[in-house]
Amino acid sequence: MKKSLCLLISLCLVVSGLVLLAACSQSKKAAAVKSGNEYTIVSAYDDVTHMLSAVQTVSVTNRSDNAFDAVKFHIYANQYRQDATNSVVPAVYHAKAYPNGDSYGDISFDSVKVDGEPVPFTVGGTDCDILSVPVGDKFYPDKTVDIEMTYTVQLANVLHRLGYNDKTVNLGNWYPVLCHVDNGKYTESPYFCVGDPFVTDTANYTVSITLPDKYLVASTGDLTEAASSGNSVTYRYRAEAVRDFAMVLSSEFTKISDTVGDTQVNYFYYADTDPESSLAAACGMLEYLNKHVGTYPYDQYSVAETGFCYGGMEYPNLAMVTSGSASYREAVAHETAHQWFYGVVGNDQISEAWLDEGLSEYVTYLYMDSTGETALSQSMRGCIKTYVTYVDVLDRFYDNVDRTMRPIDLYKNDNEYVIFTYVKGSLLFNSLYETVGADKFWKSLHTYYDQAQFTVAPGSQLIQCFASACGDEAASIFSTFIDGKEIIGKVTD
Ligand SMILES: [Zn+2]
Repeated sequence: MKKSLCLLISLCLVVSGLVLLAACSQSKKAAAVKSGNEYTIVSAYDDVTHMLSAVQTVSVTNRSDNAFDAVKFHIYANQYRQDATNSVVPAVYHAKAYPNGDSYGDISFDSVKVDGEPVPFTVGGTDCDILSVPVGDKFYPDKTVDIEMTYTVQLANVLHRLGYNDKTVNLGNWYPVLCHVDNGKYTESPYFCVGDPFVTDTANYTVSITLPDKYLVASTGDLTEAASSGNSVTYRYRAEAVRDFAMVLSSEFTKISDTVGDTQVNYFYYADTDPESSLAAACGMLEYLNKHVGTYPYDQYSVAETGFCYGGMEYPNLAMVTSGSASYREAVAHETAHQWFYGVVGNDQISEAWLDEGLSEYVTYLYMDSTGETALSQSMRGCIKTYVTYVDVLDRFYDNVDRTMRPIDLYKNDNEYVIFTYVKGSLLFNSLYETVGADKFWKSLHTYYDQAQFTVAPGSQLIQCFASACGDEAASIFSTFIDGKEIIGKVTD
C-alpha cells in the first residue's frame, strides 16, 4: 500500500538519518580524542591527614597559532588557602560551607619537569592560582612537550567542590588543569566565588587513585582496573574527550545502577531514603536529552549524593548532588542536563553563565513537565514572580537597574547571579519555546549540540542555530533578554 510504503520509506530515512548522526557524533568524539591533550595522574589519598599526593604528566600540544614561553595551569586547589584574596564562597554561604569552623587547604609542588628536566616553575596569577611552567625554547605551534609535576593537595574541611566532610570527600577541580587558550593567549581568569568560574577544553585522562579499601569512588571516566593490596585499593580510570576529571569518595556509599542506551548510570548514596527514585531521575533525564538533543557520547555516568553548600555541581560523567536538599530529584535532573550543556558542549562559564545554567535549568523544567511532576506553566509562573519581584525591589531603590545577563564577576552578589542566569535564563528559553514551538526548539538545540560538541562554544553559535531554524525573531528574543530590554508582565495568584 502506498501509505505503508511512504511510512516505510520515512522510517528508513529516519533510521538511516539517526545512524548517520550517531556515526557523525562518534567521529567528532574520535577527533576530539585525537586532538586532546593527555593527562596521566597517579594519586593516593590519605584519609587521616586528608592529603592527596599525586604525580601528574601532561602531554601538551600547542594547537594555537602563537608561540609561548610558558605553559599555564589553573590551580584551583590553592583557592582554599587561609590568605586567599578571593574567598571560596560568598560571605552569606560561609557558615553553611564550614559547619565545623574555618578550615584551609592548598596545593604545594615538589617538582616540575619538562621533557624530563627540572624547570624553575612559578605560582602566580592574581591570587596564587596560576602555575606557570617555562618551556625553554619557544613553544611553537604543533610542538608537544611533556610536563611532569609532583604535588600534594591538602584538603580543607569544607562542603564545597574540593574538600572533606563527615560523609564524603569531594575531589572537584583538584589537579592543575591547562588554561584555555583563546585568541592565541592563555586565559588566566581568577576564581570567583559566584557561579562556576571555569573554562576548560576537552582532554584525555588516565587517572589512578589509591585509598583505603573501605571507600567507594564515584568518578569521571570508565573504571578499567581495581587492584587490592593489603587494606588499600587502587582504582584506575580512563576518560576520553572530557572537560575535567572529578571524583567523590565515601566509605558509606551504596551503589545502584541502571542502563540508558549505551550508558551505564550509577547512583552512589548514603542517606537517600528513596534511591531508586533518584536513579530514575538521572536515567529519565539522560533518556529525555538523548532523544531530544543528541546521544550522550560516554559509557558511564555517575550521580553522587554528597555534602555541598549549594544544590549540586556538574562534572563530566559525574554529578555531585547535595544530600538532604529540598528539590533533590530536580537537582539530579539539572546536573544531568549539564552533561550536555557544559559537558559535551562547553561554554565560557565566566562570561556567558546563562548559556549552560539557563539551558540546564529550562530543560529540567521541560523534563519535569513531561513526567507530570511539575507543569511547565507552574515552573514558569514561579520564575516570573521571582524575577519581577527582584527587579521591582531594585527599581525602588536604584536608578538604571542593570538587567543585562552579564559575566559572573559583574553580579553584585550570589542572589543576583542566580536570578539572572537560572531564573532569567529559563525565562529566555521559555520565551523561545513558546514562540518557535517545541519542534523547532529541539531542532535548534540538536543542531547546536551536533555542531558544537567537544568545543567551547560562544552564545552567538547557539543564537545562530535558533536563527537558522526559526528566523530572526528567535535571535531578537536572545538579544532582548541578554541586553535587559525584555518585558515580563507580573503574574497574579
Ligand atoms: Zn547548574
